[in-house]
Formats: sequence, C-alpha cells, structure tokens
Amino acid sequence: MRNLERQTKVIATIGPASEDEATLTALFQEGVDVCRLNMAHAGHDWVRTITRRIREVGKRVGREPAVMMDIKGPEIRTGFRKEKIQLADGQKVDLVHKLQDFQPSHDCLPIDVNYSKLHEHLEPGNLVLLDNGLIRLEVLETEKGQVRCKVTEAGELGSRRHVNLPGTEVDLPSLTEKDMADALVGIQESHDFFALSFTRDAESIDLLRRFLSENGSEARIIAKIEDQSAVRNLDEIVRGADGLMVARGDLGIECAYEELPIIQRRAVGKCLALGKPVIVATHLLESMIDSPVPTRAEISDIANAVNEGADCLMLSGETTQGERPIECVRILNRIAGRIEQEITPGLTEELRLFRPKAKMLRSAAMLAMKLENSAVLVFTRSGDLAEKLAALRPNGAPVFAFTDVKGVHLRLRLLWGIEPFFMEFSEDPEQTILNAIEHLRSFEWVEKGDQLVTVTNVLAHGKVVESIQLREVE
Ligand code: PGA
Ligand code: MN
Repeated sequence: MRNLERQTKVIATIGPASEDEATLTALFQEGVDVCRLNMAHAGHDWVRTITRRIREVGKRVGREPAVMMDIKGPEIRTGFRKEKIQLADGQKVDLVHKLQDFQPSHDCLPIDVNYSKLHEHLEPGNLVLLDNGLIRLEVLETEKGQVRCKVTEAGELGSRRHVNLPGTEVDLPSLTEKDMADALVGIQESHDFFALSFTRDAESIDLLRRFLSENGSEARIIAKIEDQSAVRNLDEIVRGADGLMVARGDLGIECAYEELPIIQRRAVGKCLALGKPVIVATHLLESMIDSPVPTRAEISDIANAVNEGADCLMLSGETTQGERPIECVRILNRIAGRIEQEITPGLTEELRLFRPKAKMLRSAAMLAMKLENSAVLVFTRSGDLAEKLAALRPNGAPVFAFTDVKGVHLRLRLLWGIEPFFMEFSEDPEQTILNAIEHLRSFEWVEKGDQLVTVTNVLAHGKVVESIQLREVE
C-alpha cells in the first residue's frame, strides 16, 4: 500500500509566483489538492487562461487539483495603485469613494476606497486599519463620500489593500455586481468551489447558491468567516455552507487577536461534528515569502491546525508572491505528514450518522484502521459517503473514493484523507469493484496482498444489498 504523504489537504493560491507551467507542474507533483484564484486581484482573462492551464497540467501530472474561485463579497479595499506610497505618522488622509470626482485638499492625501457609505459608519475617534492592520488611522471628521483621518501608525500602502473597521457592520451587499460577474466566469470555466469572503450569515450563502444554480453550476460553497458577525452566526453558517474557511487574516483584525485560536478551535470542531470540510487559512508560512525556512511558531501553528482536525491548510502570499512556492508545499507535507503519525487513532465521536449505510461507514473505517496495509474503498455518486468517511478521520487508513460523476471527483479533493478517482461504473457492481482495484493496482496505489475494506452495493438474488466486504488485492 502506498501511504498517503499526508491526509490533511493543501490549497495553493495561484498568482505571479506560481502561474507558469513549470511551477504548477511542480506544485501538483508535490500534491497540491486545490488551486485558489483570488478575485481581489484576478481579471477575467487571467482566470480563463489559468484555469485551463491548471486543468491541462493536472491531467499531464496525472492528479488534477480542484479549482476554487474566491469571490470578494462585502470586502472593503483601497483602490489600484501603480506604486506603493509611504504614509507618515500624523499625516492626514481622505478616504474617498470616487477619486475622479473628488477635489483634493492641499494638505490631505486622497485614498480611493470601494465603498460609498464609509462615512455613515464612522465617527471621529474611530479606528480604521489598512493592509491587514499594518497601517492605523484615526477618524477626524466625516462627510458624504469622504472620511478624513490621521495616520497613527505609519506604513507603506500598496495596491488594493484591505480596509478593516473592527466591530463595525457595513451594509455592502453580500453579493456585489462584481462578485456576480466574477462568478459567471468561474461557472463558465467549471470551477469546483466558490469561496465567499466575509460571509456574515446563512442568507448570504443562500443568495450565492441560488445564483450558482440559476446559472447551471453545482459547485460547492465555502463560507469564509472573517468578522464578528460570522463568529456570532457560526452555527447557521456551518449548516448552510458546504464547507468553511477560517480566514485568519481578516478575522485576526476584526476580532481581538487572543480570540483567534479559540474561534479556530470552535469552528473546526463544529465542522467535524457536522461532517463539513474546514480550511485553516492565512499566515501558515508567511515568513517564507522571503525567507528559506519557516519560523518555529509557524511550524507549531501548522501542527496545531492538523492536530485540531482541519481538512485543509491554505497558502496565500506564500504561493502568489513568495520566492519559494514549491518549498512551502513541501514543508506543509513534512509537518502535516509527521504530526498525523502522532495523533491517537480513533474516529470522530461527535459526528452523527443517520442513514444505515452511513452508519456502516464507521465500522468500515474502524476495520481499515485495525488491519495492516489496508484502505477503505468506496463507491459514491454524490460524494456523500466519501464526505462522511473523511469526517470520521480514519487516521492512517487512506480512503479511495470512486465516482462516475464528472466534477464530483474534483470536489472530493478538499476532503481529509480522500483520494478520489473518476471512473465509469459497470452495470454489474462486481465488475465495478474489479475495475477500481485494477485501476489502483496499475497506478501503484495498492499491491498484491493489500486489504481493501469495500463499501458498496451488491446484487443478491436480484436484490440490491448494502455491504462491507474485505477484498484482498491479487
Ligand atoms: P483573503 O482571505 O486572503 O481573501 O483576504 C483570507 C483571510 O482573510 O485570511
Ligand atoms: Mn480575507
């Protein structure tokens, strides 16, 4: 049995440092499971070109990753800027909505922001944070379309930087015009996941789901929790979404930072209990954007996320702008693979399984964990059984999931410990099993003597019966 290098999955955000064919090839060979395209920066032509390139390279490497479009939702950012600009302590700036309509005053630097009602939410003395909190502003006065501030923590402002107003609820629509235009491109390019930035409640997920289905997409929705309203509404968000992303970049600014590890642990636990995949994102290897080795704190943070039971670890700047995108993935492989060996084997107790067939999965997973050289082999059309198996976290036992539905195999890439395959099913369930085992053998996933705990339907005197069978590879 070929051991999976890690059961925790890896998402790499694709950008200038990783978009070329050679780098994508190396990333996929290192086992990247999902590619994220961040619509805060990406244009439509780029999305089309890169999606096609990802699919082609994936086919060539023999392990196609899923594609996730990250749409920006109600996110506030500064405008495009060709060159960085230094903001000095005490300097006055005007945050304005439409720069072209604005008459600059001589002692104030105008900064373009994509939100017209900023002035309605702020009053003198309030705090505004730019660029992930690196630059701090204090509000001096507000008037329509304009917020005058004083810089209290200096820094260099780049293009399209985050604007955070901790604790302030803004009334930007959950799905903006830009989001819909972006999502349409993702739909046309058959993206497998849509991540919704700043998901505030279950209603915003419904809105996106309706939009996707009206436009013919069955893609899965990942809710990004990034602010205090998401934390308040965590239960309904986890229930409404197909998966969750703990977006620590914004969350760490919008909430008191000592709350961050607690929110992460709660969010991961809730997802595990409901059998939904969960991603831990941002700053996993931030120092490696320009350093060759991770910090000790980063190593422990990654190990902690794996230990808590995250399905997926996500790289952002590390793979979009960093000097060593491939090395970052290797390091995740090493840390995740190593810490997984230390986790006490045992299945998720909190996960509630309802249908008898789903309940059988617990026994199948347990059996595969107890036997040497064994894995679970599951056949699934909707992906549902694979999702439940992943949520059980059968440590040390790979789960090979076969589906005959195009797209489902890619959606399964996000799930902990699942190695998905697309294959046409035969009319005869027995033949389907034999074909799957042959596929696994020919690609050297399994070898003679390995045990496959097989979850499938069998025909018994003309009746379909659910079964768990032990198949030895011949
Ligand atoms: P972003 O989301 O990279 O799109 O901002 C992730 C985060 O906030 O952590
Ligand atoms: Mn964010």
